[in-house]
Amino acid sequence: MIRQLRPAIVVLALTFLSWAEGRASDSWIQVTSPHFTVVSNAGEKEAKRIANQFEAIRGVFHLIFPALRVDSGKPLTVIAVKNEESMKTFLPDFWAGKDRARPAGIFVPGFDENFAVLRTDVTGSAENSYHSLYHEYTHSILRLNFASLPVWLDEGLAEFYGNTVITDKELQVGIPSSRQVYLLRKSNFIPLDQLLTADRRSPFYNEQDQASIFYAESWALVHFLSLDPEARREKYLTQYLHEWDETRDAEEAARRAFKDLKKFQSRLDDYLRQPAFQIYHGKLEEKASTELTVRSISPAEALVVQADFFQHYGHAADARRVFKQALDLEPNLASVHEGMGFDNYAQYNNDDAEKEFKQAAQLNPQDFRPYFYLAEINYRRNHYRAESTLQIIGYLEKAAQVNPNFAPAYAFLSVAYRQQRETREKALEAAIKANHLDPSILAYWADMGDALIALGRDAEARAIGGKLTKAARSPQEKSLAQQYALRLARHEEIIAGKRGSNPPSQEPDPASILQDAPESDQPAAAGTAGADRGKIASEEGLIREVDCNSSHGATIKFAILGETLLLSVTDLTKIEYRAMGTNSTADAQPCSQWKGHKAKITYKAGETGVPGGEVTVIDFLQH
Ligand SMILES: [Zn+2]
Repeated sequence: MIRQLRPAIVVLALTFLSWAEGRASDSWIQVTSPHFTVVSNAGEKEAKRIANQFEAIRGVFHLIFPALRVDSGKPLTVIAVKNEESMKTFLPDFWAGKDRARPAGIFVPGFDENFAVLRTDVTGSAENSYHSLYHEYTHSILRLNFASLPVWLDEGLAEFYGNTVITDKELQVGIPSSRQVYLLRKSNFIPLDQLLTADRRSPFYNEQDQASIFYAESWALVHFLSLDPEARREKYLTQYLHEWDETRDAEEAARRAFKDLKKFQSRLDDYLRQPAFQIYHGKLEEKASTELTVRSISPAEALVVQADFFQHYGHAADARRVFKQALDLEPNLASVHEGMGFDNYAQYNNDDAEKEFKQAAQLNPQDFRPYFYLAEINYRRNHYRAESTLQIIGYLEKAAQVNPNFAPAYAFLSVAYRQQRETREKALEAAIKANHLDPSILAYWADMGDALIALGRDAEARAIGGKLTKAARSPQEKSLAQQYALRLARHEEIIAGKRGSNPPSQEPDPASILQDAPESDQPAAAGTAGADRGKIASEEGLIREVDCNSSHGATIKFAILGETLLLSVTDLTKIEYRAMGTNSTADAQPCSQWKGHKAKITYKAGETGVPGGEVTVIDFLQH
């Protein structure tokens, strides 16, 4: 086992070496377009081309869904590298194993920043090299607009736009991949009612296996809805989205939007079997060069780009090392201090984190992140005391002022505002804003409800409770809905009790229950830091593969029902071990022997494109 693992370690070491050597000869530039920042070592022409491509694909969404929001409050950093060698330095994991697919582009959504990493030396020919990048980018845009979507529609749209090809002059949407066409030709179709209602636990669905008829059929249905002339005339897609919003029932929405489902099914069957699929051709507007600004960036800044990416991609130790190199080269770079601040924050070194974030804010007052994390640190230390609440609000208002589209700042603000009687109206406004900016996070709905409770608007608070219960899907969401229902019930009891016993002049304080409830005090419960980055989850499954790495950490492929999680352990000595539910630090097995064991693993959800995160507890379910 150990011997098998060694090559992976060597590859990692070599790639860092080549990065360190490579950066001296590489010159990095930054191209800023109206909506994106591209950092590249492939030269100005290529970096501009990529910026134009991203503006173009953003434009496609705007064109087809004019009402969609296409800009996230999280900055998107596009890292455009010149070749495979450079790609390897950013994504060493994909080159560590022999059989892994090596992507030409990936999209990595994060809590406070999104990344796209892609090679510029591949061209989108017949099979689109950037498919998975565009697929994930599409998901990220859908999440900005919909609280949730039926899986067929979410994946179908992501596949449909994932295949977009952008050349110098035009863009083509709706190109079928040969894989999809092959699957549609040779497979039995999933019946429409089952396709519509499949959820993420369904046997048809597996995000790791996109070569399935589920993906092909979902793609084809979206293709039909988006490009078939009659479907467009009938506005099927818009109708369906509207009915879904009303009913939250994927099949009922189809009955309402597509009318006769039998007739619809047979039209769809014909469509799926047609010899060729129509493609949408759009003219590409070239951005005037005045809209693109170019500047060369220093070697230290180039290092920060990589370190920042590592930090958001679950490689904290590597990030730390590269940040330190950058710090040695340029001690007064705001982004270095921000990165070091976050590194300390993640390890609960609150004093160091505060020092770094304060320095970062001083060096670059236009970055929202230091303010946001300074508020978090303040909360960690003092919770909501009179003085700390004011400080927390101060930092968050600053973060929201610098970046008015960052949803977590408003969600956190809503909880802080709720603590003081005079800012309760603002608590509701802030929660509504967070919900508008990121409707996919149910915790923000609960924030709206809690603000309504605090204001004594009980009927509206009850309506939110109903919506929450209906929309909750994952175990975490269900528990969030239950907690909310409990808070609402306790609030109603208290109000009823106080009304009975108090003289009428003494109005009960509707917020009293919220100040008692510890869960509503937590920023995590309010969906701020804990919403996606840092959400704690626990799953039972099988440890399929373990890679015990050189720096006391490990990565684990953990198979659970329907999918594989990619889990990482930064430091094996710092996690908790159990055996059949009881603590057992003493007899924890060495990492190299974990493979093939059943376990229950608790982890903090990461922010990579893949499901998984950082392990906190491993409970071995057999000896
Ligand atoms: Zn997907």
